[in-house]
Amino acid sequence: MISRRRKKPTWQIKIAKLHIEELFEEAEKLANQGELNLAKRYISIARKIAEKFNIRLEREKKLKFCRKCNTYFVAGKTALYRTNPKTKALEVRCLKCGYVRRYRYK
Ligand SMILES: [Zn+2]
Repeated sequence: MISRRRKKPTWQIKIAKLHIEELFEEAEKLANQGELNLAKRYISIARKIAEKFNIRLEREKKLKFCRKCNTYFVAGKTALYRTNPKTKALEVRCLKCGYVRRYRYK
């Protein structure tokens, strides 16, 4: 019997990664067109794929959406980016649900 917990084949992970890239690109386009709900859906699909294949999203991608409500971040429109020199953190506030995420920087 094949264990369901077994690691996915490399080629499948490769395809999944490409799929995630595409979904993020589409989400960006949609968000810029004001199609926020559709962009949200693309992000949630991308996240599901990442989860299924155990793919870690790059920091760059993580900064682009709200991990709470999946809203794609458009600076000044759906998100506010602020750097805090005191704590050396980048603060991203989701303007849709108010969630604030802090990222440390050097
Ligand atoms: Zn949010």
